[in-house]
Amino acid sequence: MRVRAATARGYPGEDGETGQAAEKIRTSRMNRKNRKNHKKRKRRRRRMDGEPGAPGPDGWQRLAPGVHRCRLPGWDCTVGLVTGDAGALLVDAGGTPRQGAAVRDAALRLADGAPVRHLALTHPHFDHVLGAGAFPGAEVAGAAGLAEALGGAAGRAALYADAVRHGVPAAAARAAVDGLGPGAPRVREVGEEPYGLDLGGGTRVLLVDAGPGHTACDLAVLVHPAAGPAVLFCGDLVEESGPPQAGPDAVPDRWPAALDVLLRLGGEDALYVPGHGAVVDAAFVRAQRDAPARGGV
Ligand SMILES: [Zn+2]
Repeated sequence: MRVRAATARGYPGEDGETGQAAEKIRTSRMNRKNRKNHKKRKRRRRRMDGEPGAPGPDGWQRLAPGVHRCRLPGWDCTVGLVTGDAGALLVDAGGTPRQGAAVRDAALRLADGAPVRHLALTHPHFDHVLGAGAFPGAEVAGAAGLAEALGGAAGRAALYADAVRHGVPAAAARAAVDGLGPGAPRVREVGEEPYGLDLGGGTRVLLVDAGPGHTACDLAVLVHPAAGPAVLFCGDLVEESGPPQAGPDAVPDRWPAALDVLLRLGGEDALYVPGHGAVVDAAFVRAQRDAPARGGV
């Protein structure tokens, strides 16, 4: 308001200029202002078309028709849900059996009772995978190497230790890790050929082995919803809430190339959903590609 008043006081007519000349200047300034406002409105419309809505009271945020995500409490891990006529796909499962159960309940509600048929795990870190036991009927998919990371003795020991170190109660961590071991659903590994899923109703999904980078097996999930821009779930190859974390299992030399894969998949217009933090755009991913990852987990 204050800015507008100051602008009005600055019109030449009010500083003593009168007649046609002042009117001309006033009209031209008004036209300029209108053009500016029109452009501003257009920009705002574009942002609203392409931007996700605010999270609901349950924490779930709608990104596009049939595409939701939730930043889970605790470690701020993002899980994604894609629903179509033919079933639902979940991206990551949370960090404890309890989180997995809560995600399953929310997914059933958001998918109108349709169960999760596909579970895409972006990488084998405890905060993304230890809720997987809540989805026994789902086909589990991940990048090459995921089966060994979840089912092999070394991978399971690392998952357990990591979870307990980050505050997961030992009994819950043990139960969750055991649920991923022998006897758990077989993992479908995505190799050089992306794995395409048609979820029905015009919603298509592409699972792509994008790594290595954050870990030895990083999966990206590209969603083409029935309407609106594509949505790319990036796992922890992209983080918004802090610098990308490079733990002992990271492959820092290959990380920039993995981000290039993401940029090729999503292009300029996709919504890039990081493993931790707010939804970002291609420019953010490019900037992260050019910045070194920090040590950590
Ligand atoms: Zn991670």
